[in-house]
Amino acid sequence: MHHRKSKIHSVYLGDKFGMWTVIGRERFVMPYGYIVRCRCLCGTERDVIVRNLTTGKSKSCGCGVVYNSPKAIIELWKIWQEIRNDSSGWSNWETFLLWSLRTGFKIGATLKHKYHTLYTPSNCFWRPKRRPRSPWKTKR
Ligand SMILES: [Zn+2]
Repeated sequence: MHHRKSKIHSVYLGDKFGMWTVIGRERFVMPYGYIVRCRCLCGTERDVIVRNLTTGKSKSCGCGVVYNSPKAIIELWKIWQEIRNDSSGWSNWETFLLWSLRTGFKIGATLKHKYHTLYTPSNCFWRPKRRPRSPWKTKR
């Protein structure tokens, strides 16, 4: 039997897989096998299992769900319309969109600011949509 040692999962610097861009070199780390440092379109950096890249299992840091949802994008667009003039940091739609992806925006979330000042990126966070409370848990 003759086995050729083939490394089928090779990826290269700058390769793109969905929203990921490869920014590091492959490393072999147990128990994952080959992993590589990637940067998501939103700016999040993470080690990703190479096999998951090449098979299309991993396409983003998770923000792709929002990025590929027209409903979510429209919701973000509306929020941005309200705050764009109120904020020094978000006069640019792309900046706001990527910030929202990076900070975990989900449909139904509300943009909140920590202090009663301007809506600037460092001063804001997303409050997730509230689930209806169970009637058994309303007593405190
Ligand atoms: Zn991302």
